Amino acid sequence: MRTVSWNTTSCELTEGVFFCPDEGVDRRYRLTLDLVEGVDPDNRVECISCRVRYAVGVLSLPTTDQMSAQLDRFLRTAAAAVLRALEAQPGSWERALQVLSGGVSRYGRAELAHDLQTCDPDRLEREADLVAAFLTDAGKGAVLSTCAALAIVDCVIEPRAMRTLERLGATLGLSPEEVFSVLDRCTE
Ligand SMILES: [Zn+2]
Repeated sequence: MRTVSWNTTSCELTEGVFFCPDEGVDRRYRLTLDLVEGVDPDNRVECISCRVRYAVGVLSLPTTDQMSAQLDRFLRTAAAAVLRALEAQPGSWERALQVLSGGVSRYGRAELAHDLQTCDPDRLEREADLVAAFLTDAGKGAVLSTCAALAIVDCVIEPRAMRTLERLGATLGLSPEEVFSVLDRCTE
């Protein structure tokens, strides 16, 4: 028969910042290796603030800083895709700079030129998957209407950009009906 030792020895492996699901914000965590037999070895990540313990998989959730960086990257790539669809539509660069510079950090002409050269559908899809993992449906709708704002000329979405916007909505995981209603509301 095995003897169970109830000492409370646990050794701390590392500390860092993670997204605490219980509190919904970034917190410091402590990753420990429990040496206590009988204690669930899977819950090794402890939030230093609320003391809730999580399985190690919690560390794969992006922190809010990472989410915001992923959102920036997606918006930039999506904007480049919309601008490409608009081809040489006059004013589209200015509109993109105006719409995105408020929300996306360090965004200007040089970044836009770079995105136009490097954006491709695969990259857009990869980046959409990352943001779709943490955005709510309302958040996805807001992202899509930001992209649509880049293509609105005289209160109408440029028909050339329509296909791209519909694809953006679909890659974010919105249904065709949701996409339609978001785009419809954009021009009201
Ligand atoms: Zn917490």
